[in-house]
Parts: sequence; structure tokens; C-alpha cells
Amino acid sequence: MSPVNNLTNGKPGSKGNLSCPNCPYCGFGRCWKHSTYKRIGFHRLPGEQQHGTVTIQRYLCRRPSCGHTFSKLPEEVLPYCRFFLVDLLCINDTLAEGKSAYWIAKYQWSMSLRVILRAVSLIRRVTPWLGRLYREATGKVETGFQTLTQSLRKTMSWFGLTRHWFHTLYPCRAGHIFDPHNLDIKRC
Ligand SMILES: [Zn+2]
Repeated sequence: MSPVNNLTNGKPGSKGNLSCPNCPYCGFGRCWKHSTYKRIGFHRLPGEQQHGTVTIQRYLCRRPSCGHTFSKLPEEVLPYCRFFLVDLLCINDTLAEGKSAYWIAKYQWSMSLRVILRAVSLIRRVTPWLGRLYREATGKVETGFQTLTQSLRKTMSWFGLTRHWFHTLYPCRAGHIFDPHNLDIKRC
């Protein structure tokens, strides 16, 4: 099943946004809920509850000179990734136990080796960057995908982490993530 983002009608300007994030473009603190869209097709381990759909909230910056819209990903949901963070950590753990990507694909996930190889590639690509992000945020040095994600979650919000993640890993797409119709994006 290919991932599809379906734009659904939201309630522009709805209030009660106490947990509303600041605008990532201009820092303005007053953003309104703008609409939601659905992300579907997340990978789940066999036997786990299948998460068919995750609803993503979008916001509209109320600063007249800005007016950007942006998304706030729920906990565990990563930009352009069909694995939840907990599942990337699971793959990482299994690799650390000495299992191969082939073993993980066949015996743990029952899915295409190609998908698991993309997940492994993502973990390897993102880990050094997480180390730099953590060092910049705290002045401390940590290594390892699991340690770094756990440590960073103690120093920044999920919104902050996923915004950094997106802008660093997908710089050429950063201007397009807010368009849910932009479907020509590879996910792992
Ligand atoms: Zn703004």
C-alpha cells in the first residue's frame, strides 16, 4: 500500500490551542489550528495493532507578515518515514544483537528486505546528525541512535526534534512539506 496524504477539512481558526507550537518560520506564538490531514500505511510488526491512520494537525501562523502553515507531528511519527520511532529503535536493537537486515525483514517484520534496508540506511544517516544536534543543544557528547533519541527527547519537544529532523534530512523539500498533496516523496 502506498502512503497517501489525504487533506481533510479542518476548522480554521479554532481556539483552545494551549499546546499550539510557535511558528517555526517566524517564532510567533499565536497560531491557529488550520486543518488536519491523514497519514496512512505505517509499518507495524506482525501481531501488533495495525495503525491504519494517523491524523496530523496543521497550524496557521497568525502574524500577518508570515501566514505560513505548518504541521505538528504526533509523538513517534517522523517526517517522511512509515516506521514509528519505536520501531526504528526496534530495528536498531536487533541489528545491535547481530542480526542481519535480511533476518529482520524475514523473521521479525515479514516484509521486503528493501524496506528494512532503507530503514537501516536512515538510522545510519541520522545518527551522526543527532549527535551533532545533541552536542549543540547541551554541549555534551553522546553516541548511538537509541541513546541520542532518548537524550534529545529530554532536551527538546517532539515538535522541535521533528522540525530539525525534517529541515536537516530533507532540505530541498522543506518548502513543500506543508503541501499534503506533495506525494512524490520517498518514504522508508
Ligand atoms: Zn510565522
